[in-house]
Amino acid sequence: MSPEEFRRAGHEVVDWIADYLAGVGEYPVLPRVQPGEIASRLPAHAPECGEPMERILDDFRQIVVPGMTHWNHPRFFAYFGITGSGPGILGEMLSAALNVNGMLWRTSPSATELEQVALGWLREWIGLPADFFGIIYDTASVSTLHAIAAARERADPSARRKGATPGLTLYTSEQSHSSVEKGAIALGIGQDYVRHVPVNERFEMRVDALQELVEADVAAGRKPFCVVATAGTTSTTSVDPIPEIADIAEKYGMWLHVDAAYGGPAAIAPEFRDTLRGAERADSLVTNPHKWMLTPVDVSAFYTRHPQILRRAFSLVAEYLETPDQAVNLMDYGVQLGRRFRALKLWFVMRYFGRERIAAIIREHCEFARRLAASLEQDGRFEICAPVRFSVVCFRLKGSEERNRALLDAINASGLAFLSHTVLNGVYVLRMAIGNARTTWQDIEKVRDFIFAWADAQ
Ligand SMILES: *Cc1c(COP(=O)(O)O)cnc(C)c1O
Repeated sequence: MSPEEFRRAGHEVVDWIADYLAGVGEYPVLPRVQPGEIASRLPAHAPECGEPMERILDDFRQIVVPGMTHWNHPRFFAYFGITGSGPGILGEMLSAALNVNGMLWRTSPSATELEQVALGWLREWIGLPADFFGIIYDTASVSTLHAIAAARERADPSARRKGATPGLTLYTSEQSHSSVEKGAIALGIGQDYVRHVPVNERFEMRVDALQELVEADVAAGRKPFCVVATAGTTSTTSVDPIPEIADIAEKYGMWLHVDAAYGGPAAIAPEFRDTLRGAERADSLVTNPHKWMLTPVDVSAFYTRHPQILRRAFSLVAEYLETPDQAVNLMDYGVQLGRRFRALKLWFVMRYFGRERIAAIIREHCEFARRLAASLEQDGRFEICAPVRFSVVCFRLKGSEERNRALLDAINASGLAFLSHTVLNGVYVLRMAIGNARTTWQDIEKVRDFIFAWADAQ
């Protein structure tokens, strides 16, 4: 592609992005397509000869975009709302242009060093001590996999050579994310050695139950090696009692990992500092800037106080990768060799918005959630099914599961908004997760009024 052609198409793409972001609220949040429909509109075979950029961009607009779920939409309230912000998108474009592989310090010194600097800044923002070493992985699932690997390395150093010793046992609450169990599967710990600790009525891990389970396993000759606490669970955003869990982790020599994938950025706002209370005693922690911190997917920030153990779990240096540099080579701290320059977009976002603005956005989302919960409750026909700790409201229409399923289907089919559901204490509930920086109170009112009108029509 000639520089002139690149410039022309590039300007067109940037214009498209600017218009898209300005008008994203006009699209139906969920596309009106059936499975297979998009694929059926595309040729079955790749072209023999190249095609002009205009044709490719036309098909992007006419075939691809109509099949998109718009995560950048201000009324995307499913799972966790996220934001691809302007500065984050620009950082992503530049990292594609530089196209470095940051496996070693010398394969791009700035990529390694900016990653250390940006994660150092974030560590300060969320109040973690300076001895936490930071590294970026793609997702929280992969960050947690690395935490469990480091925990296994510490408890069972021969695992690396001989495979994990049977009986290593991991604890996490029954509200924790499935990635914890997946990590245990991948590392050969085994699902039978993952204990799902019961929660209290606020969906927080019960420390007495944790203690009992650990003691029963010790008595049976098993080896508790890791406990994963969650700060902001996926269903209800509950926060496990990290200080008490840290006491038990210390008592039994377990690695404490804190999964703050969603909740971590809340600690940027002073009034939510207590979200990570006790996390300074953790062995590792993950938080996802791509969730509630305005950075495009994907970027997950992983911290550990024991980088040497993480390194021991994974380091394997082939001759062709040996270098004389006295520097951190990030390939030593995980499964992957090649790594994208993800720190650039994070650094753009942190500089462009600054701590205060990010804290203000998070604060506003939490305020919206409280107002929404209050007005649903006031209506009388709805119940709020979990404490509104941050920006997620779990609610249901009083009555049958069928009615609630029908309500969710009606919202999602309308194109107005996208919500998801969860099950709490065996009961089906709707979940509205506020997390997009473009969301205004009017967006939330539109959805609430849709819900009220739907209930009126029943
Ligand atoms: C979203 C989430 C995850 C998974 O995040 P990925 O980056 O998609 O792997 C893990 N834990 C919690 C608590 C989450 O909310």
